[in-house]
Amino acid sequence: MPKRQKRKRGLLVILSGPSGVGKSTIVKRLLKTNPRLKLSVSCTTRPRRPGEKHGKDYFFVSKDEFSSKVENGEFLEWAEVHSQYYGTPKKFIDEALQNKKTVLLEVDVQGAAAIKEALRPSYLKGSAVFIFLIPPSVDILAFRLKRRKTESMELLNYRLRAAIAELQVMEKYDYIVVNDKLENAAKKIMAIINVEKERVLLN
Ligand code: 5GP
Repeated sequence: MPKRQKRKRGLLVILSGPSGVGKSTIVKRLLKTNPRLKLSVSCTTRPRRPGEKHGKDYFFVSKDEFSSKVENGEFLEWAEVHSQYYGTPKKFIDEALQNKKTVLLEVDVQGAAAIKEALRPSYLKGSAVFIFLIPPSVDILAFRLKRRKTESMELLNYRLRAAIAELQVMEKYDYIVVNDKLENAAKKIMAIINVEKERVLLN
């Protein structure tokens, strides 16, 4: 029997998808039902929405604070999304990978592409799985965005157009999961994570 290759590093689970597809709800569900999963909390310059907590949903920072973090190389990746800045803290990710943790990252398509690039060195191969969440239909997406009532009509239309554009890049992801029902989608994502953890890594 060949000796089984043990995973030497953690696993980054990159979750992307259009605004309003239900990423945050899925993430909350996954964290609640799988206490060993860790969330990478991003920094953002966007205003806090009702109910959001600093340090839990995001680290809410000013544009100046964000710029100095960029200059100090504190982000694994950062991007401008809908005129606001978002960045993934690098230190947390490095430590999580070293400590063999499974970490969820909710990032936009630019962030996912940057993370793919950052993980190109061969010793980091297999350290991430890229999952794209899609709505059952564009109508449902529009309905969910409207129901959220956090954006003006103008911003809402802008986000909807951006969402449709984002759907075009989904083939760059390893898996596409339809968010029909929260429970089903969360189960599918957990199945993907569990399978990816068993992947044979040669390095
Ligand atoms: P929201 O403002 O609705 O929380 O997020 C807007 C978009 O920014 C979403 O597509 C979300 O996935 C993305 N996002 C959140 N955090 C990060 C991050 O650290 N990096 C990047 N590139 N995108 C992020």
